[in-house]
Amino acid sequence: MKKIHVFGDRIAAQKKGLRQLSDDIWNHPELSYHEHYAVGRATDFLKKAGFEPVTPYCGLDTAFRAESGEGGPVFAIFAEYDALPEVGHGCGHNLICAAALGAFCAVAAELKEEKRPGRVVLLGSPAEESGGGKVKMISAGCLEGIDAAMMVHPSYRATPDTGSSSITRFDVIFHGKSAHAAGAPELGINALSAVNLLFAGVNAYREHIPEDARMHGIITCGGEAPNVTPSKASCRFFLRSTSEEWIKKIEKRFRDIVRGAELMTGATAEIIPFNIPYMSRKPNAALNRVYLEDISALGLKPVIPVHGGRGSSDFGNVSHAVPGIHPYFPVTDHEIPGHSEAFRIASGTDFAFDSAMIAAAAMADAAFTYITDPAFKAEVDGAFKA
Ligand SMILES: [Zn+2]
Ligand SMILES: [Zn+2]
Repeated sequence: MKKIHVFGDRIAAQKKGLRQLSDDIWNHPELSYHEHYAVGRATDFLKKAGFEPVTPYCGLDTAFRAESGEGGPVFAIFAEYDALPEVGHGCGHNLICAAALGAFCAVAAELKEEKRPGRVVLLGSPAEESGGGKVKMISAGCLEGIDAAMMVHPSYRATPDTGSSSITRFDVIFHGKSAHAAGAPELGINALSAVNLLFAGVNAYREHIPEDARMHGIITCGGEAPNVTPSKASCRFFLRSTSEEWIKKIEKRFRDIVRGAELMTGATAEIIPFNIPYMSRKPNAALNRVYLEDISALGLKPVIPVHGGRGSSDFGNVSHAVPGIHPYFPVTDHEIPGHSEAFRIASGTDFAFDSAMIAAAAMADAAFTYITDPAFKAEVDGAFKA
């Protein structure tokens, strides 16, 4: 018999504490690697529920880990809790944290009550928005001994995990030579011209990249005054593709275009990686199926998007290491942009919290089924290997 209603009830029983946790984090937005308040609240919640969370974890002050059960299989649930500059919880990570803790406690209780072998692990991962907390945690060994993993993320609609783009990010600084822009321009080298030519080169290349690729940049320094030839100019580019093969090609061409801008202007360039690259997300079809069945059974109405996700997340790296999904639940009943004030407001509503708890119940069921049903585990593992 499917247990989704059992997990729905288990999570409903913790609703008051989880809502308080979600609201407290929403009211105290903290940027990447500074999520001390959120980690304090989350680990207090876990201690009150009888667990022994470990923090700092993986060498990160604002990462944590908790575990329950004995033996295997082992299923990990990821929590996030970092916020954005300007728009606070405009990505709704307060809801991710509450859903993760709710699902973890529910699976732990069910494993214990049924005396089933297997473990559920909760991994508190900082700095998703910038800083690649999960990438650092994976390097430090957080997935050792983990068989599969999952998290849920807010959106304006309920969807399965449809994948995401890999992303690599660069600051490019051009160095030229200042001169009087009118009196002695022949003595100068214009670094801003090199930035402009880089944008022109990227825009020309755009015609020849796959539909799913993205290249977007901003000028971070364009000189100081029109009458001074800029000796320094800089820009920041994000390059994305759902293909690990294409992202390498795009990065190589991007570096060639920078070199071209150097040759055309006489400026010299420094290319400095900005943040850690994230891999594309490879969703697991079997886990997606359970998520969609379960959220539907609890009243959400999932849609299947016409094309895959184009954003990026450090869960991408998780999905290359173990089978996993990062599906979505709605914070509104109409379309709003992510990373916006509207999304921040929506992430504090009853509507958003209630759908986060449905997603949490589905995540608990997926985890419990993976741990306790060898046929389902074989299907998930088989899809990952394929
Ligand atoms: Zn975000
Ligand atoms: Zn997010």
